[in-house]
Amino acid sequence: MHELSVTQSLVDMVLEEAEKREVKKVTKVTVVIGELTGLESESIKFYFDILSENTVAEGAELTFKIIKAQFKCRQCGTIFERSNFTFNCPVCGGVGVLVNKGKEFYIESIEVE
Ligand SMILES: [Zn+2]
Repeated sequence: MHELSVTQSLVDMVLEEAEKREVKKVTKVTVVIGELTGLESESIKFYFDILSENTVAEGAELTFKIIKAQFKCRQCGTIFERSNFTFNCPVCGGVGVLVNKGKEFYIESIEVE
């Protein structure tokens, strides 16, 4: 149910922007989601359709960009993305620690008519 409140603020942001620019119709919204937020893009889509009903954003197409979590090797400093359920460095096999990526959630762009 986390997605419901997140999507509500998403719709609010879109409508606020639309109002500022006196937009009549929002056609497309691109949203950036970090892997670590745990947010399901399908659920956001579902709620977006409901919450944007009877607004200028009704029927807008939602596109998602998923940002992968990144890890940094403690031994050699290589930055890498997790693969195949391992957190080990692909270069030296050392243990990776999470770096500050993958928690993003923001609107990248809004297309209007
Ligand atoms: Zn390494």
